[in-house]
Amino acid sequence: MSPSRNDLAELELRELEADLAAHGVEPFHARQLYRWVYKRGVTEFDRMSDLSRDLREMLKREFTIGTPRVVSDDRSIDGTRKFLLELADGRRVEAVFIPDTPAMTFCLSTQVGCAMSCGFCLTGRMGLVRNLTAGEIAGQVRVLAGATGLLDLPFNIVLMGMGEPLHNYEHTMKALRVLHSEHGLAVSPRRVTLSTVGIVPGLERLAHEPLMPNLAISLHATRDEQRSELVPPNRKYPLAAILDACRRFPLKKRSRITFEYVLLSGVNDTPEDARRLVRLLAGIKSKVNLIPLNPAPGIPYERPSDERVDRFAQILADGHLTVSVRKSRGRDIRAACGQLIVEGGSKKSAAQQMALLMR
Ligand code: SAH
Repeated sequence: MSPSRNDLAELELRELEADLAAHGVEPFHARQLYRWVYKRGVTEFDRMSDLSRDLREMLKREFTIGTPRVVSDDRSIDGTRKFLLELADGRRVEAVFIPDTPAMTFCLSTQVGCAMSCGFCLTGRMGLVRNLTAGEIAGQVRVLAGATGLLDLPFNIVLMGMGEPLHNYEHTMKALRVLHSEHGLAVSPRRVTLSTVGIVPGLERLAHEPLMPNLAISLHATRDEQRSELVPPNRKYPLAAILDACRRFPLKKRSRITFEYVLLSGVNDTPEDARRLVRLLAGIKSKVNLIPLNPAPGIPYERPSDERVDRFAQILADGHLTVSVRKSRGRDIRAACGQLIVEGGSKKSAAQQMALLMR
């Protein structure tokens, strides 16, 4: 679906200013609109009390403010909330609110489904249905911040929901620019983490972005043979190419690249894997986030025991890597990593999806 020019939610501030100017409206009204929509979460023009009646009438005629509709809002016993959101065309995505990590965090989707087909991820089973637009990505933040009372408070964003953000590069970056506007939510890129399987041309582009989020790489294996099986895009962008791009990635002072590593019992969680990981990451300013698998029906892997996880983490720590183990949140409501799926995905096979990706 192409973003409608009349949907104000798809516009950066300067685009909105230009569109309003075409209707003879002064630019400061664009800033007022941004404040209503992003800071106050108001999407009905009639409630925008500091706009003249004439301006409100014109806006109602010429513009909409596309906003994802909350279909359900499930609460976990640990405070995590999973929102099922419906978009203008009826497609659905999930977004998750994770409190107190210690920050308040929103986990956003960037695509309906995903083309990457990672062997342990439920979203990958859906195949790619379509990209989200910038307005639909930023809209998740508006809706979740409104629902959790955080419009005026600091929060973090992780692009770790459904989809591969570097496979929807333009819309994802535009969403970050929209969210960054000081007249809107003013989200600093330091509070945003983009998680990717490692699409190398995307990483190269990201390295030149003026608004650069923190980077997380979903590594999950230390040998190409195994990684290609678990994370199929590895066939095109193997470990050495991804790690080279990481070495070249410009990091701000004190910042590091996060390497996510999902632990699959008896598959990639052996002491040899841990030692290889230490060697692979030598010389990269990194931290490792271990994610014991969140099992799901149809996923042919098992979560390792806590002892195996601890032993793996200890070898990394002994190798002088900074390591953390991700505490799974919201597992009781299927909101944990890799558990996001909605019905009605495309019927394309995984092989067809990969063929599309490799083109
Ligand atoms: N496509 C991006 C972002 C979405 S996934 C990426 O791959 O990084 C966010 C994280 O959850 C990734 O590290 C992913 O590998 C991990 N994940 C997927 N399925 C999982 C599962 N069943 N258990 C634990 N982590 C999972």
